[in-house]
Amino acid sequence: MELRELGRTGERVSVIGFGCGPLGQEYGALDENEGARAVRHAIECGVNLFDTAPYYGRTLSEERLGRALEGVRDRVLLATKCCRYDKDGFDFSAERVRASIDESLARLRTDHVDLFQIHDVEFGPFDLILNETLPALRAVQATGKARFVGITGLPIEMLRRLADAFDVDTVLSYCHGNLMTNDMGAVLGPLAEHGVGLINASPLHMGVLAPGGQQAWHPAPTEVLEMGRRVSARCTDAGIPVARFALRYALDRVPAASTLVGMRTAGEVDENLTALEGELDPALVRELEELVAPVRDWTWHEGLKENAPSRL
Ligand code: NAD
Repeated sequence: MELRELGRTGERVSVIGFGCGPLGQEYGALDENEGARAVRHAIECGVNLFDTAPYYGRTLSEERLGRALEGVRDRVLLATKCCRYDKDGFDFSAERVRASIDESLARLRTDHVDLFQIHDVEFGPFDLILNETLPALRAVQATGKARFVGITGLPIEMLRRLADAFDVDTVLSYCHGNLMTNDMGAVLGPLAEHGVGLINASPLHMGVLAPGGQQAWHPAPTEVLEMGRRVSARCTDAGIPVARFALRYALDRVPAASTLVGMRTAGEVDENLTALEGELDPALVRELEELVAPVRDWTWHEGLKENAPSRL
């Protein structure tokens, strides 16, 4: 497994990271043992970055990950988040950040996380995040309960503005670095040159580019979802699993230290590791880029109106 420097942290992360949204059943029912087998198999295969959050399964993902990591915690870099607890449940106060880390550590059965991130910054007022939430994360770091701190969210312009204004260790962006939407490198790439560790999440566009398609909650415009079905059908015709194509596409084109893909089973782990082998057929890449061009970079709005990019 190729490892890359995670910004200035001094840590090296696997180019494929394990997204733990599915462990919290965000992608349908998942047997706990099956998910634990996926976690342990991924570790055996050299995956060393695991990303979870209290929000995933409303604490279920952290609980399950904590149990799955018993005895192997020290072999991984563990990332979790704070400030988002439900679909509409946010709290960006310093007091909640202090309580949140202790709750997460108990669920994760560890005395520290490697990365502590603000979950979905676009739902908080910019100034509050800058002046209260981020300093609170640094205060948590000073206690030793978190080794590094970062931000996550959908609107890459806001992630960029925050990272320009506050010295964060990492920035996690999702659904902006894959075949459907690929502007992460242009907007966030320069941060990497200044030592910020970039993490690219959702290379399958949150299931749009998975063989079974996305969940009912997916917020993308219907044209994007329909395009996902066409891409999937074309990959099947071409004899390449759509997930493998999509993951490799993201790995090749996005300047991230790690690409987080949500995995449910050991079989999906194996399938995703095959994405590291060989090369994509350049003719198929060109053809699919042309196919998706009419909806390329179509995103959607999340969060407070004041944080939305002007184009939305
Ligand atoms: P994703 O694009 O990784 O897609 C996940 C879906 O694809 C799941 O249904 C999974 O079972 C399926 N899948 C994966 N590999 C497959 C394979 N080989 N064959 C068939 N199906 C396969 O979406 P995601 O899980 O939302 O994103 C990855 C991770 O990134 C998350 O789990 C989470 O850790 C992180 N993330 C963070 C934020 C945030 O902080 N705001 C937002 C989105 C994602």
